[in-house]
Amino acid sequence: RIFVQDTYIRAARGGTGYAKVGGNYGGGMRASLDAMQYHCKDVLWLDAAENKYVEEIGTSNAFFRINDEVITAPLDSGTILPGITRNSVIMLLKKWGVKVSERKLAIDDIIAASKDGSLQEIFASGTAAVISPIGCLNYKGTDYKVADEQVGPVAQKLYDTLYGIQTGKVEDDMGWTYKLFDLD
Ligand SMILES: *Cc1c(COP(=O)(O)O)cnc(C)c1O
Repeated sequence: RIFVQDTYIRAARGGTGYAKVGGNYGGGMRASLDAMQYHCKDVLWLDAAENKYVEEIGTSNAFFRINDEVITAPLDSGTILPGITRNSVIMLLKKWGVKVSERKLAIDDIIAASKDGSLQEIFASGTAAVISPIGCLNYKGTDYKVADEQVGPVAQKLYDTLYGIQTGKVEDDMGWTYKLFDLD
C-alpha cells in the first residue's frame, strides 16, 4: 500500500532532488507520517510545480505498467534521482522487447487506468528495494487497486534477473559484474 502524497513535496526544479544527498531525506520524514496514518508503507511523490505528475516512490524510482507500456519519470526536471537500478531496469526491458518510456505520467491517468483495468503493475526500484511491487494506491482517501494486487510478471522477472545477476545465480549477459578475485 502506497500513499499518494499530494501535500508535501520531495524535490523541486532547481533543487537537489537529482542527487543522493542527506538533506533531501529530512523533509521526506514528515511526508512519511501521512503514509503511516493511512496504513501505507511509503509515499508516491508528485511533482512540486503542479502536484500532477508522478515522480518517485519513497527513496526509490517508480515504474507503471499500463497497456503493456512501462513508464517512468524522465530525468530532465532535475527532481528525479537517476538510480542505477532504474537504468538497469530500462536496459533489461529494452533487451526483452518490452515497450519502456521515460515520460511524464499524471496521477489522474493512473487512477483512470486502475478503474478501467489497464493498470497492470506498479513497482519501485532501488539498490535497497531491488524491485518492490505495489498492490494498492491510496489517493485522497480512496484505495485504488493495482490489477489483482499480486506480484506482476514484469516485476517478478526483473527481480529474479537483477537479484540473480547480483548473486551470481543468473548469467550476466549485460557485462554488469566484475570478478575481483578467485575464492580458491
Ligand atoms: C537511492 C535512491 C533511488 C534509487 O537509486 P539506486 O541507485 O537504484 O539505488 C531512487 N530515488 C531516490 C530518491 C534515492 O535516494
